[in-house]
Amino acid sequence: EDHDAEEDEANLEERPPVITIMGHVDHGKTSLLDRIRTSKVADKEAGGITQHVGAYQVEKNGKKITFVDTPGHEAFTEMRSRGAQATDIVIIVVAADDGVMPQTKEAISHTKAAGVPLIVAINKMDKESANPDNVKAQLSEIGVMAADWGGEYEFVPVSAHTGMGIDDLLETILLQAEVMELKANPNRKAKAVVVESSLEKGFGPVANVIIKNGTLHVGDNVIVGKTYGRIKAIKLDDGSNAKEIGPSTPAAIVGLNEVPGAGDELIVMDTDKEVRELAEKRAEYDRAKALSKSTK
Ligand code: GDP
Repeated sequence: EDHDAEEDEANLEERPPVITIMGHVDHGKTSLLDRIRTSKVADKEAGGITQHVGAYQVEKNGKKITFVDTPGHEAFTEMRSRGAQATDIVIIVVAADDGVMPQTKEAISHTKAAGVPLIVAINKMDKESANPDNVKAQLSEIGVMAADWGGEYEFVPVSAHTGMGIDDLLETILLQAEVMELKANPNRKAKAVVVESSLEKGFGPVANVIIKNGTLHVGDNVIVGKTYGRIKAIKLDDGSNAKEIGPSTPAAIVGLNEVPGAGDELIVMDTDKEVRELAEKRAEYDRAKALSKSTK
């Protein structure tokens, strides 16, 4: 599978960072995701049709950024617990008037435990009661010291309502991504991670995935957790269909026999036969595990 590492090294190309937004309820995660999406949707005219595929891409200074648009820690934690982390950078949103709250701390500890870099967005800066220094002081107490206070974390004041600071936030993300030298090999078989999935009328099982490595094509034989199939369609976040997609691209895929779980990993195999054999092995393993539990 992971053939000739040296050849792969030569094939590595820069890929967009994948971002997850976390923070306390009502601090503005959804508003921020909406604001970023409507202000900078990649390759699209403003107001164009969009399709929910679990994540979207925006473009800034000619570079793409992928945002997972299911806010909250569930998806993040679920993926991490399955070892299928899709996130490169976490944005911790803190409302400037409210300050640090229990879920802010929880989000920070999840992020640190996963070893993922974080950027703090101090939101609701348009409010009269906004107190960004208070946010900085509170976070410094729990080990997240702002860079302009001598620490190692970038803090960006923003307002999801007015759009203030959104450009700064995107630029800060791109700087962090540059330091990380995120790369992938578009010339290999795809690996992807499921961020969400559902059963949809007219389509059957639909998995919203983000490509981690390689290129996924219509017609590829895939196994996704306990499910499998042949890719029938790839739908992008602008509602269009693609024949193939590369690293860090989010898309909805159609063609699986059942609905996979969030955090499941998608792997491409050469033949339909190999896919079925592996799926059967996985099912057997599950039956054996269930049996050993029931006889304990
Ligand atoms: P979430 O629970 O973190 O996703 O938060 P939401 O995005 O749903 O926002 C919670 C509330 O805060 C809503 O009433 C938003 O309109 C409001 N809100 C979000 N961002 C801002 C902002 O930048 N300024 C102000 N004044 N209100 C905001």
